[in-house]
Amino acid sequence: MSTILVVEDEKPMLRTMEVNLRARGHVVQLATSGSQALAMAARRHPDAVVLDLGLPDMDGIDVIRGLRGWTTVPIIVLSARSAEAQKVAALDAGANDYVSKPFGMDEFMARLRVALRSPSPVDEAPAVVTPDFTIDLANTQVRRADGEVVRLTATEWHVVELLARNPGKLVSHRQLLRDVWGLEDTKTNLVRVFMVAIRKKLEPDPSHPRYFITEPGFGLRFVSEGTSATSLSSPEHLDG
Ligand code: CA
Repeated sequence: MSTILVVEDEKPMLRTMEVNLRARGHVVQLATSGSQALAMAARRHPDAVVLDLGLPDMDGIDVIRGLRGWTTVPIIVLSARSAEAQKVAALDAGANDYVSKPFGMDEFMARLRVALRSPSPVDEAPAVVTPDFTIDLANTQVRRADGEVVRLTATEWHVVELLARNPGKLVSHRQLLRDVWGLEDTKTNLVRVFMVAIRKKLEPDPSHPRYFITEPGFGLRFVSEGTSATSLSSPEHLDG
């Protein structure tokens, strides 16, 4: 039994998928928009995502990118669009498979079974090791150098994981808010508040971060080797 998140704005199609997946013993979660899908995936960690590309609020490709920022969950794309370019774009963004509407339910279920048991195409780094702590991506936990497990909330973990999966890369506030919280609104201090908590738990000196570096006005960058924060940004801007 697996938990499947179905993202589809057409109610009859959503209902068909729900009935057929439940009949095969799966737990089904339903989302009718991209932002709802990202929020639900972040909260409930489905075993697979079935995603319609034509959604009312955002392009399905952006939903795939949002998910791939932090998770390797299998994604099967559904679309009436038969254009080859769309299919390639979805696979390039990290989708595992693609089914064109209309499709037979038996064929879809066969594709889903394959997706559920195959390893994700995205590189799965087992752990990110720093001199002060290890981010164990396989076991979703952070341990200090002395082996003690650091207690993080689910949301704190999502933030840490998203940054750690993009070592050295700038991750924008917009991407964090969208991928972790499912929010499109960037006028919120959620990221700043959570980074204060995360730094308190992980940084040797939270007021002078070595690992979770703020790029003022843009976002955050995780530096696994640890670095001098002052070389990247001035201390008065290190709060967010
Ligand atoms: Ca649609």
